[in-house]
Amino acid sequence: MIDVLIIGAGPAGLSAAIYVERSGKHAVCLESLTVGGQIVNTPEISNYPGIKQTSGFEFSMALYEQATELGAEVNYEKAVKIEKVGEDKASGFMVTTESGKTYAAQTVIIATGAKNRHLGIDKEEVFTGKGISYCATCDGAFFKKKDVAVAGGGNTALEDALFLSNYCNKVYVIHRRQEFRGEPQILNVLKEKENISFVLDSTVEELKGESSLEAVVVKNKVSGELTEIPVQGLFIAIGQEPDNADFANEVQLDEKGYIAADESCYTKTPGIFVAGDCRTKLVRQLTTAASDGAVAALAACAYIMED
Ligand code: NAP
Repeated sequence: MIDVLIIGAGPAGLSAAIYVERSGKHAVCLESLTVGGQIVNTPEISNYPGIKQTSGFEFSMALYEQATELGAEVNYEKAVKIEKVGEDKASGFMVTTESGKTYAAQTVIIATGAKNRHLGIDKEEVFTGKGISYCATCDGAFFKKKDVAVAGGGNTALEDALFLSNYCNKVYVIHRRQEFRGEPQILNVLKEKENISFVLDSTVEELKGESSLEAVVVKNKVSGELTEIPVQGLFIAIGQEPDNADFANEVQLDEKGYIAADESCYTKTPGIFVAGDCRTKLVRQLTTAASDGAVAALAACAYIMED
C-alpha cells in the first residue's frame, strides 16, 4: 500500500511529494498531462521567493528532479475515482485511473490544479489549433510576423502579450474592463511596446474565418459598438476552472467546483487532503501551491502515524 498517493504533479503535488519523502514516507504522483501543471507554460517566473528569475519549464523540471531524486514516483495516469476501502483507517483508499488501473493508498492528496477556462463562443472548439490557442509559449512561434489577439486581463494574458510581442507583427490585448487584474509592473512594460494595442471594456463576441481564424469581432461594453479586428491568432487567457467532479463522492465541492478546505488542507474525509489551486482559497499563486503541498504532505504523514 502506498503511503501517500498524490493526484497531480504540478507545483502543489510535487511539493507534497518532496515533503512526504523527506518525512520518511513514500509518495506516488498520478499525472494526466505533464509535470509542472499550468506553470510549465509560463515564460517567466520572477515572483517566487529566493529565485530571482526562471521559466515555468525550468522550474517544473527542477521540482520534478527534486521530488524523484528523493524517491517519489510519477506515473502518467488520470485518476478518475477515489473510494474508501472498508470502515477502518488501515484499509485506506482505492484510486482508479482512466485506464482501469487501481492504486491502494493509505492517504490521498488531491492536487489537480485547474484547467483553462474557455470563452464559450461559437467556433471556439472548431478553431482550436487553427488560430485559437490557450498557450502562447507553446504556439506563439507559429504566429511569427502575424497579427494576433490575447483575451484576458490577468498575469497570464499580460505575460502572453509580452511574449507574443517579440514574435508577432501586432498584438491586441482584449479585456472586459479598464483595470487589469495582472501586475502593474508587466502592464507598464506592455504600454511601452509599439506593437501592442489595448482593446478595453470589450469582449470577443464572434470568431470569423473559413478553415482557420481570420478575424475576431469585439463588442465594446460601454458603447455597444461591434468592431472586426483581423487576426490570425487568438490566445485565450481568461483564467482557470477546477476539474474535481470525479471526486465529488469523497470531498465537498463549492458552487464553482473547488474542493472545500481551509489552510489545514483537510477535506471532509479523514485521510484525503487537498493542495493548491483546486481547493477553495483567495490567492492562487505558485507560492501558495507549494505551501499547500507542504501542509497537506505533513498532515498526511501525521495521519498515517497517529495511534
Ligand atoms: P486570472 O488572474 O483569474 O485572470 C483572468 C482574467 O480573465 C481576468 O482579467 C478576468 O477578467 C478575465 N476573464 C475571466 N473570465 C472571462 C470571460 N468569460 N470573458 C472575458 N474575460 C474573462 O487568471 P490568470 O491570468 O490565468 O492567472 C491565474 C493565477 O496565476 C493568478 O493568481 C496569477 O497571478 C497567477 N499567475 C502568475 C504568474 C507569474 O507569477 N509569473 C503568471 C501567470 C499567472 P476580470 O479581471 O474582469 O475578472
